[in-house]
Amino acid sequence: MRTSFAIGVDVGGTRIAAGLIERKGRIVKDLQKLTPHNGPFAVVDAIIEAIEQVAEGVHPSEIAGVGIGLPAQIDFLKQSVEFCTNLPLAGVDVRSLVLSRVRHEVTIDNDGHLAAYGEFRYGSAKGARDFLMLTLGTGVGGGLFIGGEPYRGSRGLGGEIGHMVVQMDGPPCPCGGRGHIESYLGRPAIAAKGREAAAAFSGRAIVEEAGGDPAAVSAEAVIKAALKGDEVARAILLDAGEVLGRALVGLVNVFNPRLIVVGGGVGEACGFLVERAAEVMQAEALAGRRDVRFIQSELGNDSGILGAAALAFDEHDSREGLHR
Ligand SMILES: [Zn+2]
Repeated sequence: MRTSFAIGVDVGGTRIAAGLIERKGRIVKDLQKLTPHNGPFAVVDAIIEAIEQVAEGVHPSEIAGVGIGLPAQIDFLKQSVEFCTNLPLAGVDVRSLVLSRVRHEVTIDNDGHLAAYGEFRYGSAKGARDFLMLTLGTGVGGGLFIGGEPYRGSRGLGGEIGHMVVQMDGPPCPCGGRGHIESYLGRPAIAAKGREAAAAFSGRAIVEEAGGDPAAVSAEAVIKAALKGDEVARAILLDAGEVLGRALVGLVNVFNPRLIVVGGGVGEACGFLVERAAEVMQAEALAGRRDVRFIQSELGNDSGILGAAALAFDEHDSREGLHR
């Protein structure tokens, strides 16, 4: 049976978003709630509550299923959470726990993969068979589509663009590694650079954006100062853009994508950081691969719930033997 709706859930370190979504990508109903920080079962309860709220009033037979994006490394084949930095979900069988309490099929995936899925099905990567999605936020995530299919690797753990090494023995990354893209572009890394500048006279504008307290400097304070034209803050973000550009040279040389879609809170706020990355990539990538287009995510914050819903539709259709 062809169903009309799917439920997409996007679990972040701060918020859980959920939506009831039509096949063509229209969001019929959506909501957001704060992510609880008192243990894994509170997070699972909040996910279930969000699903029940958006599904209210719709007959279960009309719902294709639930897709859930988690800020975690997911073994897609086993549907297990292998590693999760910001929430205590590693080793927790999120899928089974949710499945036992809702009346729909449930599929979990990495949030960056689902953002790419959302852009592919409903957003700025529609029709692009080979593209790269980058989500620049607290962490750096992403997803890769090759030949019109999401690339997951042998177990579903692939596509962790944020954890590519760009500097040998570089700064520590939240994952435990060193010198990864996220060590330079994650919010904590940008905030640390801002605090370094704040400790010197040159960081005055950044400290002002943090309410006058050098210890309170966040990535947002650096971004705000840069957008107001502060050169020190701009230099911090342009340096980060340069690091990203170098990493993209490698990715473009290997995968030859047609598009690079940039999303996430930092990516959306910092057009000039993304432009710097594009310049570096275009100057240094191997000939013939430089015509990659850089575009902003069209779906913004909704890419997560839309991608999760698209996955739920696809899983439903393949269970039912329907063609896309
Ligand atoms: Zn890392």
